[in-house]
Amino acid sequence: MNLFLRDYYGGTRLVRVKLVGQSLCLGEDGYSVPLAQINGAEYLGNGDILTIAEDGVAFRLYSNQEHDAAIFITGHCNSNCIMCPTSDGERQTSYGLPDEALLAYVDMLPADVTHIAVTGGEPTLRPALFLQVMSKVAARFPGKEVLLLTNGRSLSVNSFFAKFIENCPPHLCVAVPLHGDTAELHDCITRAPGSFKQTDRALKNLLQANIPVEIRVVITKLNYLHLGQIADRIIESYPTARTVNFIGLETRGNCAKNFSQVYLGHRKAFMAMKSAVNKLIAAGINVSLYNFPLCSVDAGYWEICRRSISPEKIRYPKACASCQVKKLCGGFFNTTFSMVKPKVRPIQKEKGSLS
Ligand code: SF4
Repeated sequence: MNLFLRDYYGGTRLVRVKLVGQSLCLGEDGYSVPLAQINGAEYLGNGDILTIAEDGVAFRLYSNQEHDAAIFITGHCNSNCIMCPTSDGERQTSYGLPDEALLAYVDMLPADVTHIAVTGGEPTLRPALFLQVMSKVAARFPGKEVLLLTNGRSLSVNSFFAKFIENCPPHLCVAVPLHGDTAELHDCITRAPGSFKQTDRALKNLLQANIPVEIRVVITKLNYLHLGQIADRIIESYPTARTVNFIGLETRGNCAKNFSQVYLGHRKAFMAMKSAVNKLIAAGINVSLYNFPLCSVDAGYWEICRRSISPEKIRYPKACASCQVKKLCGGFFNTTFSMVKPKVRPIQKEKGSLS
């Protein structure tokens, strides 16, 4: 979330929000800014953590209300997936916080944070900082679930993998995308030759080290006819994966740019993945569906749909007003509506077992 503090001359800093009367107190030196001078002040709460730049532009790193901490290491990535919701510009210019500031942020997180995600871009592309962050998270939050989002390619390198294992938090799960059952398909989606081989090696390294693995399959026009084979490959090569998440598209960045090559309606995507989902469940692997509105999914699968879109990005078409399961439905990304008019089927009678 971006905020703007007018007339702010405090210098670049990391602060924990403290609301005092009608002012925002910034940091320990007592400097405060009237709420009336902050664009977006209504979104702030006590305990939020902000980074504020010289020009007064602030970004909320942590929301104390949500209690979920994202540790963003870098926007850079060594792949350039055709459906990535990040744009080329963002990938090329988003470096993340300086090392000391990011480590200070980890120190500032409250002890009762419920969930921690280490993310990017590709977080391992700042390898020394990445390992320091993992080590600090392991020391500060030894009992917490930590999710690492990575394309896995760095974890195929044995020397780096050994250092990674040394610094891992105890309750780590690593989420790695697999876009195809073959190198040809996977690499055509990542647009990074050799990435399939590296991701495959990383998944095997992780499973051999007994680190829980979540495999993410983003469904596009390029792979939707291969989902059965992808499920077969997972069952055969990564049978101890903790879960497989099928993921619907967020139409921004590369995904918006390459829209006609990649976009698939939600219902069509669900129908294409149904037998792959059944296969994985029959093989004892957990499955979840991310970014799928409930009416695009058969009622028997509602239990595995997750409300995965961040609250500030969720939108519903007008027709949803009459839907009886709207409160349970994760809706659509805001960006979907700039590209398509999604079809919805308001549910008039609860058919599923979600409650
Ligand atoms: S009609 Fe709207 S609220 Fe109801 S399931 Fe579909 S998208 Fe969700």
